[in-house]
Amino acid sequence: DLVANQIAAGEVVERPAAAVKELMENAIDAGSKKIHIGTRDGGLTLIEVQDDGVGIEPEDVETAFLRHATSKLRELTDLTKMRSLGFRGEALPSIAAVSKVTVRTRTAHSEEGQLLHYEAGQLLERKFIGCSQGTRITVQDLFYNTPARLKFVRSLQTENTHIVDVVSRAAMARPDISFRLQIDDRVAIQTPGDGQLLSAFASIYGLSLAKSTFGLCIESPDYAIAGLLVAPEFARKSRNAMWFSVNGRPIRNIALGNAVLDGYYTLVPKGRFPVVALALSMTPTLVDVNVHPSKTEVRFSEERDICVLLTEAVKQSLKVASG
Ligand code: ADP
Ligand code: MG
Repeated sequence: DLVANQIAAGEVVERPAAAVKELMENAIDAGSKKIHIGTRDGGLTLIEVQDDGVGIEPEDVETAFLRHATSKLRELTDLTKMRSLGFRGEALPSIAAVSKVTVRTRTAHSEEGQLLHYEAGQLLERKFIGCSQGTRITVQDLFYNTPARLKFVRSLQTENTHIVDVVSRAAMARPDISFRLQIDDRVAIQTPGDGQLLSAFASIYGLSLAKSTFGLCIESPDYAIAGLLVAPEFARKSRNAMWFSVNGRPIRNIALGNAVLDGYYTLVPKGRFPVVALALSMTPTLVDVNVHPSKTEVRFSEERDICVLLTEAVKQSLKVASG
C-alpha cells in the first residue's frame, strides 16, 4: 500500500541520485547495451532513464510496481549467487510512491508497447503505444507529495554531483555498456561501451589523465583483479577517486581502499591518494552483497586474501611504472 511504499521510499530513494541509481541498475539488469539518463533541476523535476534492454512483458508491468515484486529472485537460495544488481523489488514502487512516473516499454516479441502513468503510487493511465524495444522510465516531480523529504534535498549543484558520481561508478563498473548522462542541457558523461575500462575512465576523467594511467592485473585461483592506476604525480588530496567494482557491481569498501594504500605507500610518500579504477572478479559465493539496501557495501568471506592480493598488485604495477 501507499504508506508502506512511502516509508520504503525513505530508505530506497533518499535523494534523486538514489532514484537514478535504481533505474539505471534495472536497465543494466535488463541486459541493455545503451543507457541514456537525463535529469533536470538536480533530478527533482525530471529523471529519465531509457534503455535498449529486454523490456517488460505487458502482463508484468503492473506487477513491477508492486512491493517485493521482483522477477530476479526465483527462490531464496538465489541470494547467495546473486548476479543481478536488483533483487528486493522495492525500487519501482518506492519511486512511484513519491513522484509521477511514466513507463514506456516493449519486449522484442510484442508488436505494441505499453505506457503506464502513476502519480503518488496510483495507476492513472494505461494504453498501448508504439515504441522501440526496451524501457523508458520518466520520473517527474520527485518528492512532490512528501514535503518533509524534499527538505532534505541539498542544493541542485550537490544533487547533480551525486548523480554524476552514481553514473560514473556504473560506467566504470560496466565498460561494456554505453552510458550517456545529460544534466539539464549539458552532456556530462558519454562512454563508448567498448568493453575497455580505460575508455570509460577517459570519458569521465578526460584523455590526459587517462594517458597517465598504467595497468594493473593479478590473478589467484579464486580472484582476479584488473584495472588502472594513475601516475603518482596526479594523486589527490582525498580518497574519493578510488573506484572499485566486484563482478560488474560498483562498490565501496574501506578495506580495499586501505589495501591499495598499503601497496601505494611502499613506493610513494604518504599523504596523497591515488586515482584508481579496479575491477574484481570472483565466485559470487565469496561476496555478500545483501548487507545494505543500497547494495554498495559488500562483505567478502575472505577479505584478508583479497587485500593481500590487491596490495601486491599495486606494488607490482608501481614498480613497472617507475621502471
Ligand atoms: P528489482 O530490481 O529489485 O527486481 P525493481 O522495483 O527495481 O525491483 O523492479 C521491479 C521489476 O520490474 C524488475 O524485477 C524487472 O522485472 C522489472 N523492470 C524494472 N525496470 C526494468 C527495465 N528497465 N527493463 C526491464 N525490466 C524492468
Ligand atoms: Mg531494481
